Amino acid sequence: MLVVLAVIFVLGLGVGLFFGPVPGLTVFSVALLAAGVYHIGNLFKLVKWARQPVGTPLPRAVGLWDFVYADLNRLIRQAQDQRAKLTAALARFREASQAMPHGMMFLTDTNFIEFANRQAELHFGIDNARDKGAPVINLVRQPDFVRYMNEGRFDEPLTFSQFRPQSRNLMVHVVPFGEGMRLLMSEDITQGERLETMRRDFVANVSHEMRTPLTVVRGFLETVLDGLDDLDKDDIRHYLAMAGEQAGRMGRLIEDLLALSALETGAPMPHEEPVDIARMLKDVEQEARAVSAERHSIVVDPPAPGTERILGNSKELHSAFANLAVNAVRYTPAGGHIHIAWRLRGAVVEYSVEDDGIGIAPEHIPRLTERFYRVDRGRSRETGGTGLGLAIVKHVLSRHQADLHIDSEPGRGSRFSACFPARRLAAAE
Ligand code: ADP
Repeated sequence: MLVVLAVIFVLGLGVGLFFGPVPGLTVFSVALLAAGVYHIGNLFKLVKWARQPVGTPLPRAVGLWDFVYADLNRLIRQAQDQRAKLTAALARFREASQAMPHGMMFLTDTNFIEFANRQAELHFGIDNARDKGAPVINLVRQPDFVRYMNEGRFDEPLTFSQFRPQSRNLMVHVVPFGEGMRLLMSEDITQGERLETMRRDFVANVSHEMRTPLTVVRGFLETVLDGLDDLDKDDIRHYLAMAGEQAGRMGRLIEDLLALSALETGAPMPHEEPVDIARMLKDVEQEARAVSAERHSIVVDPPAPGTERILGNSKELHSAFANLAVNAVRYTPAGGHIHIAWRLRGAVVEYSVEDDGIGIAPEHIPRLTERFYRVDRGRSRETGGTGLGLAIVKHVLSRHQADLHIDSEPGRGSRFSACFPARRLAAAE
């Protein structure tokens, strides 16, 4: 600027010295005016540009202002680079937070939402875009949660039930950070609590199942001990036989529990081999006849050609097939009929056991494969049941990619069928 002024001054002085003061002053004034117009014009261009949206290219100029614009351009590029880096870092952070299995919310210390990831949106039924800037306690109105957030004592996590958008149990941790910020993390603990309840129920069920026969055994033994001098041999034999029966029941329960726990650990099948179905059906028939003691008519169809072998674990399949056949005998009054078959049905090969026994009411059917679920506790016990048979069957079948289907009608009978993928036949050839 000073240089330009100096040049104008020298120019005016030169013209003044050669051509007299009037031309000198005229040249000086015109040059000064031209320089002023040049600078003010560029200043206006700069102000106009500054009012444009971010990203508008800088105006072009010649001379001094070209340098000014070049410097500005360099600064703008640096700022754009930094901005792009920050945007990329923010996008990465958001992606990471969305991938987190836990809910995550950034809140101000007055509980206003700054950001919520997808899990937090699901847990609390909020929408990050819509609810940003809103107080979280206006959106999640569960009283325990509101009290926890208002009190601001976050040394212990909070567990509470949230019903919107879906009923679930949540555990919430809040960690203050930065200047007046809070990080809220939420975890869905519904499944874990359900498993814990199941475990507790299971232990209670097993204890109950064991306690009953144990009490009976103890009762018989006490009777025998007290009556050693008075009871005759036949009575003693009778009591001991009854005690033996109960001990047998406890033994069966333990065997079934061990079988179930082995299946439930999810360990791979010991080994798969071609299983001879005709032989298996014969063994199953024999067991069913032994339990029936000729009180039922039992018919077994031999396997059709091409279905004589299936790939699987013979010990596990035998336990499932026998369980279904023996159940049919146990839940069919004397004189009833039982039909066992093995046949190909399109893409599946089906093992079926049909009886015309007591049948099952529809509300019980979906729960029959639960451990210890029985329709009639007394009848199950009378016939030596443990309440674990169908749970074992279901596990065995699922390890063979097979499904259990149950059709039944009270008073008319039941049909239990296990459907295996037919490719297991070909695999056994
Ligand atoms: P349980 O040892 O009590 O027989 P299961 O798991 O084998 O245990 O069967 C569960 C319940 O399913 C039984 O208690 C019984 O009520 C019912 N059930 C199973 N098979 C039949 C059947 N063929 N007919 C009627 N009810 C059956």
